[in-house]
Amino acid sequence: MESKIPVGILGATGAVGQRFVAVLADHPWFEIAALAASERSVGRSYGEACHSILPHELPARIRKMTVLPLEPDIPGKIVFSALPADVAREVEPRFARAGYAVCSNASAFRDEPDVPLVIPEVNPDHLALISVQKRNRGFPGFIITNPNCSTSGIAMALKPLHDAFGIDKVVAFTMQAVSGAGYPGVPALDIIGNVIPYIKGEEEKIAREARLLLGRVESGAQVPADFQVSAHANRVPVIDGHTICLSVGLHKHPDLHAVTEVLREFRAPDSVAGLPSAPARPLALRPEIDRPQPRRDRNVERGMTVTVGRVRPDPIFDLRMVLLVHNTLRGAAGGAVLNGELLVAQGYVS
Ligand code: NAP
Repeated sequence: MESKIPVGILGATGAVGQRFVAVLADHPWFEIAALAASERSVGRSYGEACHSILPHELPARIRKMTVLPLEPDIPGKIVFSALPADVAREVEPRFARAGYAVCSNASAFRDEPDVPLVIPEVNPDHLALISVQKRNRGFPGFIITNPNCSTSGIAMALKPLHDAFGIDKVVAFTMQAVSGAGYPGVPALDIIGNVIPYIKGEEEKIAREARLLLGRVESGAQVPADFQVSAHANRVPVIDGHTICLSVGLHKHPDLHAVTEVLREFRAPDSVAGLPSAPARPLALRPEIDRPQPRRDRNVERGMTVTVGRVRPDPIFDLRMVLLVHNTLRGAAGGAVLNGELLVAQGYVS
């Protein structure tokens, strides 16, 4: 790429916004041109406005940047959104209407039939909905979304199984890190030494988004995959990395060797494998009896690989396994940046 593409980050000061800054700070295609957040932060330097929750130092150039309001007159063609859903619902269409490509982490538009919900390794062809959205809404730009953080891992593990054996039903039991609730998020007195067996809206999102991601786009409409999902969402005292136990029923009934081979051999389509943020292996299989674990496995391939372990038969379903997804990287900022790269590679943004 001769010169980098300027990009903006909306909600740049939050838990996901900070991950965006980290992922984009030395990106080969994109250059951070604007950081925007709430009125609380506008006009302050990013270093001053942002309560850093990441261990690394910010580059001086980024620290000194002035935080801008959420107005669609910022430099660049792509904006990455890490806004709360209620704010995103109002702000993101304004950017799309002004011609920006919006890559959103928020759930605000994930339910809309003409807004692509995309994981590049799973359903890159769903970008075809962009032309439908532009036609429906008269936007010169558009909005695409990535799934919620748990579903990012679940759909990645289910994709090769669905293609090879057909998924019939899934039970997903999540143990979700506190960074998934943003900053300041869950009060320390609620979560230290504790487990909270409820995360608002999460179980519904997992069920809906997994079926959309593994479904297809036909004649400009989304057709969700036809399987049932029963999800249990729990908040646990882990900083980063969602651990998810899955029981999976399949239409075909493969032996364990066939299942592990399919998981091990899973690769992104060629059009995705060469993108700068794509990991060499979307899934990493651990043979040990006690892996994956968040502290040990969340950063595989810059947090973009989902780690799978404990693949074993199930007495009720066909198989059980445990997976680990980095919630603010693969499950949020890293996933959205990979979507942005896919947009560029496929000519949706130049
Ligand atoms: P967060 O830490 O609370 O950050 C929210 C950001 O939005 C901050 O930059 C904040 O700016 C800005 N903001 C808050 N209220 C605003 C308002 N009324 N008007 C304008 N800007 C406002 O949240 P987060 O965890 O980063 O999550 C961001 C989005 O990503 C959410 O939609 C969330 O559901 C989604 N998501 C999060 C994760 C995760 O693992 N955390 C994963 C997937 C998706 P100020 O600092 O200026 O207040």
